[in-house]
Amino acid sequence: MRIKIGIGYDIHRLQEGKKLFLGGVKIPFSKGLTGHSDGDCLIHAIIDALLGAIGEGDIGQYFPDTDPRYRNIQRTKLLEIIMGQVRKKNGRVHHIDCIIIAEYPKIGPHIDRMKQILCPLLQIQANDLGIKAKTNEGMGPVGQGEAIAAIAQALLEL
Ligand code: MG
Repeated sequence: MRIKIGIGYDIHRLQEGKKLFLGGVKIPFSKGLTGHSDGDCLIHAIIDALLGAIGEGDIGQYFPDTDPRYRNIQRTKLLEIIMGQVRKKNGRVHHIDCIIIAEYPKIGPHIDRMKQILCPLLQIQANDLGIKAKTNEGMGPVGQGEAIAAIAQALLEL
């Protein structure tokens, strides 16, 4: 048995009039994240952390933005596909820790719901998934409310 750690990072632009999805949860806000799929940067960061741990490249290789099959794909579907890859390698997720960096809206009230959606997909318990939210103290594109970023770290047994 080997323990593997993966790390993931993602950032997407906020755009007026789009729906905002983070961690598979629809969050009421006047803007949403742009992107080829749904722009859910938390799920994308988690996917990259999982892929890093199993040594399988990154999300862009699995779901190229030139491939129309992944345009507006259901937000949790990409994670389901990658968890299939983890299982194919006899992998098991032990723990995932994440940070969402967003100036607006307030993320804290939505974290429990994100865990309810993500834990069954990751096949872990609620206390094996850490989701924290921070602002960027008003600095840079995230701090100016132009984008939302996420960082994830995954610990897997293979
Ligand atoms: Mg992305």
